[in-house]
Amino acid sequence: KKHTKVNELLTATPILTEVTVKGWVRTFRNNQFIALNDGSTINNIQCVVDFENTPEETLKRITTGSAVSLIGTLTESKGAGQRVEIQVSKIEILGDSDAEKYPMQPKKHSLEFLRENAHLRVRTNAFGAIMRVRSTLSFAVHQYFQERGFYYVNTPIITGSDAEGAGEMFKVTALPFDNTPRTEEGNVNYKEDFFGKETNLTVSGQLEAETYAMALGQVYTFGPTFRAENSNTSRHLAEFWMIEPEVAFNELADNMDLAEDFIKYVIKYTVEKHEDDLKFLEQRLLDEEKNKPQAERSEMSLLEKLNFVLENNFKRVTYTEAIDILRNSKPNKNKKFQYLIEEWGADLQSEHERFLVEKHFKCPVILYDYPAKIKAFYMRLNDNTEPGKETVRAMDILFPGIGEIVGGSQREERHDVLVEKMKALGIDEEELWWYLDTRRFGTAVHSGFGLGFERLVLFVTGMTNIRDVIPFPRTPQNAEF
Ligand code: ATP
Ligand code: MG
Ligand code: MG
Ligand code: MG
Repeated sequence: KKHTKVNELLTATPILTEVTVKGWVRTFRNNQFIALNDGSTINNIQCVVDFENTPEETLKRITTGSAVSLIGTLTESKGAGQRVEIQVSKIEILGDSDAEKYPMQPKKHSLEFLRENAHLRVRTNAFGAIMRVRSTLSFAVHQYFQERGFYYVNTPIITGSDAEGAGEMFKVTALPFDNTPRTEEGNVNYKEDFFGKETNLTVSGQLEAETYAMALGQVYTFGPTFRAENSNTSRHLAEFWMIEPEVAFNELADNMDLAEDFIKYVIKYTVEKHEDDLKFLEQRLLDEEKNKPQAERSEMSLLEKLNFVLENNFKRVTYTEAIDILRNSKPNKNKKFQYLIEEWGADLQSEHERFLVEKHFKCPVILYDYPAKIKAFYMRLNDNTEPGKETVRAMDILFPGIGEIVGGSQREERHDVLVEKMKALGIDEEELWWYLDTRRFGTAVHSGFGLGFERLVLFVTGMTNIRDVIPFPRTPQNAEF
């Protein structure tokens, strides 16, 4: 007989019908009460075992982590905090779990310990909640774009151009490694390797997505992205997922509208679907904050923060205005924000971004019109900018607790301007001949952005380290799983 999911049982009317549940034991109290979880919800269902009529041998095998199949009747629960429970009539142990050796004991584990057990941590309440939220966010991403007539494009994972991510790329060579063709100096001879040229894992699907936008109109990619980040921060992974829409005929302001509307949509969709998971994560945060000094505690709870984002417009500020604000701010006593003085032309550090968002504007910020020098070659040069103070139609969206969550721009659509810029930066025109074709044949204004999916999951779950919002994080010295 088909088993029923715990989330369905918990909301069902206790009509004394016989049900089957399958799941994993979280705790077993007094030889009588099983708290059973099957992953469908953060909540366990209480299953009451008739211990007098159950063999001792079976009772012993009901341990934390064991997999069981239970048959029983769904009844109203007399216990506090739960509406229904199952009076168990038949127990089958599907998979034993040695209580002594099982790493996921029913207690609070440190996040560090859980990272070392990335294959088991999803069995905890917190990680179950995070991964359910992540899954729904991912669905909402597709739903948002699909409902609006965007086409999903799978841009290549192995790419042949290295225009974008110099220094941050993982090189691809063909296996077996020993047979990789070598130059006399012993380096890989890419010309004779599998692809006949140097290739790397994608650092962004943007350039390819642009070529598709110039035919399909509105497209998006949502795929794995790789950067050999050597920095070991709590915001960077070597393998992450990026959402990159690209839209023909959109100017920078349209791009900002799209990004803001999109972020609000996916958050709203997820908040509505995951009340229990988010309430749990919110409580977890509140518990953690109790250990912090008052001044460091956040003013809003997780759900308040999420609702605040949904209800308020993101503040749109030019880079130049932001620099003025940073320059005129008194260095903050709070250590986090002590380096505020900035010169026009400098790239913002994440502490500057967080100062603007958390202390100055107190809401998400869209910073735009950045100095051309600190942004990528493909961004649209603003007209009428002073020599030496050229700006591009770039935008970054900055979020509290995170800093940059989105990087986007209107793209340089003028062939000659783009080529000039590439020349100045020493980017090989020939290597990007296919990209330049979009400007040669039927070019048009277009814009897009990249949103790091894990940074979004960080924000929605209230977690603080990006390693805790992806199933198997890849960071320097860490690819165990
Ligand atoms: P950062 O300044 O944080 O290093 P970036 O400016 O290098 O980010 P972009 O090239 O603009 O990043 O990429 C678009 C988005 O992808 C970023 O806004 C961010 O959300 C996300 N992102 C970039 N690098 C990483 C990474 N290593 N791990 C996770 N997300 C990332
Ligand atoms: Mg970076
Ligand atoms: Mg950046
Ligand atoms: Mg960026």
